[in-house]
Amino acid sequence: MTNHIIDGKQIASQVTEKVKERVERLKDQGVTPGLAVVLVGNNPASQTYVNNKTKTCERLGMYSVMIELEENISEEALLAHVEALNNDNKIHGILVQLPLPKQIDEDRVIAAISPLKDVDGFHPESVGKMMIGQQTFLSCTPFGIMKLLEYSDVEIAGKHAVIIGRSNIVGKPMGQLLLQKDATVTYCHSKTKDLHTFTKQADILVVATGHAKMIDANFIKEGAVVIDVGINRDENNKLCGDVDFASAQEVASKITPVPGGVGPMTIAMLMENTCLAAENTLNN
Ligand code: NAD
Repeated sequence: MTNHIIDGKQIASQVTEKVKERVERLKDQGVTPGLAVVLVGNNPASQTYVNNKTKTCERLGMYSVMIELEENISEEALLAHVEALNNDNKIHGILVQLPLPKQIDEDRVIAAISPLKDVDGFHPESVGKMMIGQQTFLSCTPFGIMKLLEYSDVEIAGKHAVIIGRSNIVGKPMGQLLLQKDATVTYCHSKTKDLHTFTKQADILVVATGHAKMIDANFIKEGAVVIDVGINRDENNKLCGDVDFASAQEVASKITPVPGGVGPMTIAMLMENTCLAAENTLNN
């Protein structure tokens, strides 16, 4: 049964096609959307992510710069780079790839990014606005999941959405966005007891724990929509999610694969946010 697989690659390409048209309109008005990606150290996963981000920018006709910094850079030096990017008119979006090395306070760096250029949606101002439903940059992964649900005609209002994971970048904002669309939301996390009693009630189950294949069919209600955020390596070093796809797809009505589900959407939404940041400069 393949028709119930949510094809994130295909939906992401529909989203980026629309972004491309917006980029062309911006260029006609003399503005090329620009994204700066800051990478500290040489974490191979982070390197892959930032390469994909800058490549997608190029494909869509956007300007991008990658700033690669030494693992042992001081917090002050990193903050100086962020400040320079805040003041650079060619740059509309700034992304500092997380995680950062131990000597650097991530919260301080995120707070230093201008909220006008906070295309990751991690700045406290963006998060606060998101919480009260004001227009702002939305965190790319949960924003991408909302698009996946929309493009897949998943009804949200009145449904029970269960989120496993409460990180600031995925779990928490995910629950808020679903709440804004009138879902009843339950958060589960590492201290939750009897996880399956909650997950078994989910009409929409979002899994973002970072534990390979931890959720199988036993945790899933028949007919539920399952969104797998995880990116892990299995015992054969193959990419896999936090959901055991082979087992879960037997009971899910719709399900995202890994790779090819949530991942491509995260990048697509980053492009959309960068485009929006550039449009905002014309409107302000
Ligand atoms: P994180 O480590 O910050 O948070 C994990 C969360 O899972 C925590 O809130 C924790 O309480 C919860 N958790 C851990 N073990 C649990 C358990 N046994 N039962 C219930 N809850 C448990 O991770 P994150 O940044 O939110 O990322 C989660 C996963 O999503 C990772 O695999 C990450 O690589 C992936 N990710 C993917 C994308 C994407 O674009 N596809 C983006 C961000 C993160």
